[in-house]
Amino acid sequence: MIDPYLNESDILLRNTIRDFVDRELIPHASRYDVNEEFPSDAMSKLSKMGLFRLSIDENYGGVEGSNLHLAIVTEELARGCASTAVIYATHLSLCTKYIDLFGSHKQKASYLPNLVASNVLGALALTEADAGSDVASIKTLVTDTKGGFLINGSKHFITNAKEAGIIIVVATRNPSLGSKGMETFILETPCEGLTITPQKGKLGVRASSTCELNFNNVFIPKDNRIGRPYKGFPMTMQVLDTGRILIAAQALGIAQMALDASIQYSRHRKAFGNLISEFQTIQNMLANMATDIEAARLLTYRCASLSDYNQPFKTEASMAKLFASKVAVESASQAVQIHGGVGYFAPNVAERLYRDAKITEIYEGTSEIQRILIARSLLNQ
Ligand SMILES: Cc1cc2nc3c(=O)[nH]c(=O)nc-3n(C[C@H](O)[C@H](O)[C@H](O)COP(=O)(O)OP(=O)(O)OC[C@H]3O[C@@H](n4cnc5c(N)ncnc54)[C@H](O)[C@@H]3O)c2cc1C
Repeated sequence: MIDPYLNESDILLRNTIRDFVDRELIPHASRYDVNEEFPSDAMSKLSKMGLFRLSIDENYGGVEGSNLHLAIVTEELARGCASTAVIYATHLSLCTKYIDLFGSHKQKASYLPNLVASNVLGALALTEADAGSDVASIKTLVTDTKGGFLINGSKHFITNAKEAGIIIVVATRNPSLGSKGMETFILETPCEGLTITPQKGKLGVRASSTCELNFNNVFIPKDNRIGRPYKGFPMTMQVLDTGRILIAAQALGIAQMALDASIQYSRHRKAFGNLISEFQTIQNMLANMATDIEAARLLTYRCASLSDYNQPFKTEASMAKLFASKVAVESASQAVQIHGGVGYFAPNVAERLYRDAKITEIYEGTSEIQRILIARSLLNQ
């Protein structure tokens, strides 16, 4: 079938990942979730497929690829396992891409080959207990020392940190400078002075780790600052713009699975002597879900394509994330409804999707923050 948004190579990539997800990820997703188990098998298979190399500079081990490709891969992974999708997207879009976009030649040569070969996992540490949406309020302090820098402070909610070998750390020279005081560093872990504590009790994406980080005079060599002094904020915001496309893609995958599972269940479940798929109320739910998902997909793919053509895409990324995450939450809720009581008990695909969907409205900028960004752009503020 011809798809005006996807060319032959996009479709080939999608079909390859789709096949992998059906065979290798979906059968294990429930176990990963219930046991809060890092999906090591899936990650090493994704690595063998070369997916960690996508869109990274070929001079450092990457391969050609676009943000649309990353969105397609993330969407398909999330269809099978939302945790695997966020581990992948965090590693690639928040850590590897950060170095790829803004690192020096020396930094790229030192770190990208291992990241693209997924010999080490990557993370980005920005959020703090008193600085989430308001990222410019971070207090984790960087000071100069002989041969480099010292980091003191703490971060929380950091995805992948437990397994990570490389963490991009955003710190401030002086909290009173706000966004103008921020700098970014490449930190190799484990290292002296850094304590990483997994945060338990997460509602969804339970197979991915989320951690608190405490820095006590953590030393970073002078060559490991990314970019120029005091320029951490604009670099981080640019990385998050692309990251949002992948969160939209993650939401899409969750919503698509909610629809697929609902179709399958409604074709087998009988009530009042009929298959529930024969009731118009259920059909309306399926039709609305499918239409919303298609609209979210068009927003997400268009935004990814704009970024690939070097067109402005910041507002479009906010729109795609805002809309796709809403569709994910609503579709997952409808999936539970269609599954009835069965969908309310674990382990069941509908209840897992219901828990996994919510985070897409929170991380990498909440829905309220996306609306603020969209409105600012409309009003030229
Ligand atoms: C599972 C998980 C994984 C994460 N992974 C990472 C990671 O890898 N790296 C990282 O750095 N961070 C990560 N985060 C942090 C995430 O990005 C933040 O949680 C998010 O940005 C929201 O910040 P907050 O939790 O401090 O909420 P707050 O900023 O305290 O917001 C609370 C509420 O107030 C609203 N609000 C805030 N400001 C405004 C405003 N101006 N106008 C209107 N409403 C407003 C918010 O929308 C929200 O509803 C993760 C979080 C979670 C839960």
